[in-house]
Amino acid sequence: NDKSKIDEWDKITIKGLSFSYSSDTPVIKNLNCEFEKGKKYVIVGKSGSGKSTLLKIIAKMYMGYTGECLIGNNELSNINEKDYYDILSMVDQETYIFDATLKENVTLFSKDFSNEDVINALTEAGMSEFLKKIDYNLLLPLGEQGNSLSGGEKQRVSIARVFLRNPQIILFDEGTSNLDNETAGEVEEVLMNKDNCTVIAVMHRLNYHTMQMVDEILVMDNGEIIERGTYDELYNRKGFFYTLTMEGEEVL
Ligand code: ADP
Repeated sequence: NDKSKIDEWDKITIKGLSFSYSSDTPVIKNLNCEFEKGKKYVIVGKSGSGKSTLLKIIAKMYMGYTGECLIGNNELSNINEKDYYDILSMVDQETYIFDATLKENVTLFSKDFSNEDVINALTEAGMSEFLKKIDYNLLLPLGEQGNSLSGGEKQRVSIARVFLRNPQIILFDEGTSNLDNETAGEVEEVLMNKDNCTVIAVMHRLNYHTMQMVDEILVMDNGEIIERGTYDELYNRKGFFYTLTMEGEEVL
């Protein structure tokens, strides 16, 4: 593999990015933005506005875009996947649970982590009550597709998997959608307080406290970023974000 390694980087830069799934209308349209290392970002917008697609492009899951997507000075398509996934992890809308133990599901079968590491990650992901209930038995078999777990528990196992690795970049695609408001708020607080970690989170249910913690909120509509700023800036502008919070989206 002759793809380059990832050099020291200071930001992810998206320039003139366009992407379509088929030959018809692009779902990302000439989009420009920057994500600075260590900062926390939330992307909001109506369903279908292109938020997940943008995250998946940054996750190097979709090629075939036009424009640039750079980490530092390196174009994503030129970097080595393995190196990239050493520094970046994604919590997807889909949860993938293996027919294996709780510990194996969190470590992804890696031997590099202790039980204590696994318990810490699960606790950060809001699983402390669950751990008590099963008497901290990390060897609990989760069954096929994790069918011994509820939807929210599966989601928290996926989050713990990412927290355990302590990556430089976390992409978070509605990772708290199946959690109750209180647990979601707690997990989001942990996420937004990860030092030196760049977080880009797509969120539907907007927790006021979480919104106050992030450096920048990006508002997408129809494949474009139409507003950006802090919660207070966007709210006081009484523009699209304000309407979004008044109409569809919940603010808690
Ligand atoms: P959001 O995350 O804001 O809800 P998405 O990025 O999921 O938006 O979707 C943007 C647009 O792309 C939508 O019109 C959606 O129907 C379409 N789309 C998403 N995923 C696919 C796919 N795998 N194949 C074809 N079209 C898709």
